[in-house]
Amino acid sequence: MASKHFQCTRCGRCCRASIPLGLAEALDHDESFLLALVFSMETWNLDDFAANRPVLPITHEDLFTTLAFRKDKLAMDASRDLVFRVGRAPSGTQRLATFVTVGAAALGDFHAGQARCPSLAPDDTCSIYDRRPLGCRVFPLDPLFPEMLQHVPLAGLETRLPCDFSPQAPEIWREGSLTDPEALALLARRQETIRRDSLFLPYYRVAAEAFRPMPTLPEILKSLGGNGRLDLPFAPALVYLTAAGAISPERAERCLERQTALARKAVEQALARKDKAERARTAVLRNCLSLMESFTGRIAQAADTAPKG
Ligand code: SF4
Ligand code: SF4
Repeated sequence: MASKHFQCTRCGRCCRASIPLGLAEALDHDESFLLALVFSMETWNLDDFAANRPVLPITHEDLFTTLAFRKDKLAMDASRDLVFRVGRAPSGTQRLATFVTVGAAALGDFHAGQARCPSLAPDDTCSIYDRRPLGCRVFPLDPLFPEMLQHVPLAGLETRLPCDFSPQAPEIWREGSLTDPEALALLARRQETIRRDSLFLPYYRVAAEAFRPMPTLPEILKSLGGNGRLDLPFAPALVYLTAAGAISPERAERCLERQTALARKAVEQALARKDKAERARTAVLRNCLSLMESFTGRIAQAADTAPKG
């Protein structure tokens, strides 16, 4: 079986999209990153792989290994029905598997029509390299794939990013195993974060009801269709973390204040740029800002009425 090689040349190209974060981890960066609560849904067509992501050829056996892994890692909890579901398409001819995941993301700043991580320095190096998020550390590995299938997402990146994937770069994966124990440990940590955050799904109704008009979970799932991603204000995650005892109500309120200030600044900067291409994004940011302002001072009260996690 082929091996995979990888070396980061610090070009900064992968630092121009939103950064995936764990719900609790997000608070470590709430002063510098504008956070979103992210729902994503991914549907796999089990009978027609050409219709699926990843676009790389993948065997039936490979795909079922992936599904078994995800089922095992993501669905062994109360959120089982939401996280993983297998059924037939409405036409009844194709078998589909759907995964729903929830987590946080750090949204990029906008500069000259391009998204950019706020921690990316002008020379395209990471200004917080030693304390960068776990999602950055684990890259280019994909936590939604098991160790034995990491060659699939790696091969997808080879065609898209200018990292060094040549045989001269250090070997990262061979015959179903990661060759670097540190990379394996990071992958396991990120996978555990995703599994733990999936516990938030059945809780979402409790947290969102305190903050009308946050959408209900059925509304979110409907808007995602079969595939997609929805970014919402982070406040329901703060209620969840507070009720679960992971953070204090004071810390949650401080996070919301910081986030509101960052959102206000992002809206002001976007309006000053007067870039038509940003209009839709700015409208979303303004909506988020007004929701966040209405949530301020209400986290502790919402967490008090919620069942303790
Ligand atoms: S935190 Fe650093 S490594 Fe991560 S996306 Fe931002 S600049 Fe890149
Ligand atoms: S795109 Fe590749 S080489 Fe460039 S910073 Fe990201 S991981 Fe490193």
